[in-house]
Amino acid sequence: MTEFARHLAGLIAQDGPLRLDRFMGLANAHYYATRDPLGAAGDFTTAPEISQLFGELIGLTLVDHWQRAGSPPAIRLVELGPGRGTLMADLLRAAAVRPAFLAAARITLVETSPALRGAQAHALTGHDIDWADTLDEIPADAPLYLVANEFFDALPIRQFHFSGESWTERHVALAEDGTLIYRDVILNDLPPFTGEVPRAAGEREHAGIIELNQHALTTIAEIGERLSTHGGLALIADYGYASGHGDTFQAMKSHAFTDPLASPGEADLTAHVDFAALARASGTRTFGPADQGAFLMALGLAARLEMLCKARPDQAAALRAGAERLADPAAMGTLFKVLALTGPSGPAPAGFPP
Ligand code: SAH
Repeated sequence: MTEFARHLAGLIAQDGPLRLDRFMGLANAHYYATRDPLGAAGDFTTAPEISQLFGELIGLTLVDHWQRAGSPPAIRLVELGPGRGTLMADLLRAAAVRPAFLAAARITLVETSPALRGAQAHALTGHDIDWADTLDEIPADAPLYLVANEFFDALPIRQFHFSGESWTERHVALAEDGTLIYRDVILNDLPPFTGEVPRAAGEREHAGIIELNQHALTTIAEIGERLSTHGGLALIADYGYASGHGDTFQAMKSHAFTDPLASPGEADLTAHVDFAALARASGTRTFGPADQGAFLMALGLAARLEMLCKARPDQAAALRAGAERLADPAAMGTLFKVLALTGPSGPAPAGFPP
């Protein structure tokens, strides 16, 4: 048993079963604070780690929007959960086609993990960067250009079950042998739901698990508020569903699925992102979600790939394999989706059907 697992067991012994979001929040905070989880030697990999084309095309999308919005001279460029800093580095390299965009951008990375902040500082050497623990630490004083890849799926969720008569909420308890187990606790009162849980319960004919990611809804509302006031563009990429619910709580370790309770703090805990709920909570204009493959193709993935292959023929095979993995429906092309948010006025982003 790890020291962290003992710590969790102690908490449960003292306070009783942990609500699922508390368990997930504690486990992920420990997980991200103590390692770089990305890449072949880690537990999972992500689009920016697979191909530089991902960050480059996102960078060009931001620059294009900024330019059509009248090239505002000061903007906030923000990334939520930047991992190794690869997406931001690729984005900035592509954005260098418009030096005025780079000059306008004050860059802030929202990251709580000290280990990953170190990796980001290294990847972004030569750029002037600030860090914040949360979005609301960043002044809302300028148009917002924000990106988040595989950030929302890492935020802690609650799980509810409606039997048709009563509600239960999933908790994590200790079995007699000291292992962690799920416990569904009957709710006597309806919890302080946002509209999302009753909506989900009403939408389905049969009872089942309903997930609520309150942290994600609050964050997207904050982004929407800033876009409504100051303009800009937010691009949210993640795996998830356009609508519909169910149990999507999962754990990844060494590139394989594992039991989320088996090694707390040693595996990446995630839940699929409910894009329809995010769009509703944003309070502003949204585009998509588009399938990641369709989005990247609309932005010119194929043409940019050919340019890169010509420039670096020795790496052509790897570049092609990376682009295919991002866009192929059998790989990340349809499970991963991109949602865009803008202010109520201002230009529409490239990459989405009109
Ligand atoms: N965007 C990166 C990394 C995704 S992993 C990529 O695509 O490669 C999730 C990232 O979100 C990590 O950087 C992790 O430390 C960060 N993160 C997770 N929960 C967070 C929270 N509550 N607040 C801030 N950052 C968080």
